[in-house]
Amino acid sequence: MREKGRVFIVSGPSGCGKSTVLKEVFRHYKNYHFSVSATTRAPRPGERDGVEYYFITEEKFDEMVENGEFLEHARYAHCSYGTPRGPVEAKLREGVDVFMDIEVQGARAVKAAMPEAVSIFIAPPSLQVLEERLRGRATDSEEVIRLRLETARVELTQAPHYDHIVVNDDYIRAAGEILDIINNA
Ligand code: ADP
Ligand code: 5GP
Repeated sequence: MREKGRVFIVSGPSGCGKSTVLKEVFRHYKNYHFSVSATTRAPRPGERDGVEYYFITEEKFDEMVENGEFLEHARYAHCSYGTPRGPVEAKLREGVDVFMDIEVQGARAVKAAMPEAVSIFIAPPSLQVLEERLRGRATDSEEVIRLRLETARVELTQAPHYDHIVVNDDYIRAAGEILDIINNA
C-alpha cells in the first residue's frame, strides 16, 4: 500500500468505451477507488443510485456547489456532473488510487488543482466507430446521440493536452496499456 494514493483522470467521448475499459483494468488492479460522481441526468436502464452515479436534482446539485462539496463540476449535454470532494480526499489519505471518469473541462480543473494527477484520454478508433458504439449501446435517444457526437468532435481536439492517449480499438489491449501507465506512474 502507498503512503498517499494517486489520481488518474480518464476522459473520452461518450460511447468510446471508458466504462468497458476501466472495468477490465479493475479486474487486474485492485488498489483503486472509482470516484462516483453526482449527476442531474436520468439513470439509464440498469444504473443504480450510488453505484454508477448519485442521481440528484438540479436543486440539490446547486446546493452542493454552493457548499463547496465538489472537487470540480461541469455541464455536459444539458446536464450537470460533479466529483464529490470528500471520498476522493479520504481515499488518497488511505493510500488508495482514485480513478475519475470525467469530461474535458473537469479534467482541466483537476489537473490545475493537482498537477501530479495522471490524465488519460481514451479515444475511439474513428468517429464512425464511436457512432456505432453509441447506437449499439442502445441507451440514448436519437437527439442525445446527435448531441454526444457533436460534443465528441470538440472533445477530441483536447486529447493532446492529456499525459496519455489510449485508442480503444480492442478493449483488452487498451486496458493493458492503462495497466502499464499505472505501473509506470
Ligand atoms: P463510455 O463509458 O465511454 O460512455 P461504454 O463503456 O458504455 O462507453 O461503451 C459504449 C459501447 O461500446 C458499449 O455498448 C460497449 O459494450 C461498446 N464497446 C466498448 N469498448 C469496445 C471495443 N473495444 N470494441 C467494441 N465495442 C466496444
Ligand atoms: P454519461 O452521461 O455518458 O455517463 O457521462 C457524460 C460525460 O460526463 C462523460 O464524458 C463523463 O466522463 C462525464 N462525467 C461523469 N462524471 C463527471 C464528473 O463528476 N465531472 C465531470 N466534469 N464530468 C463527468
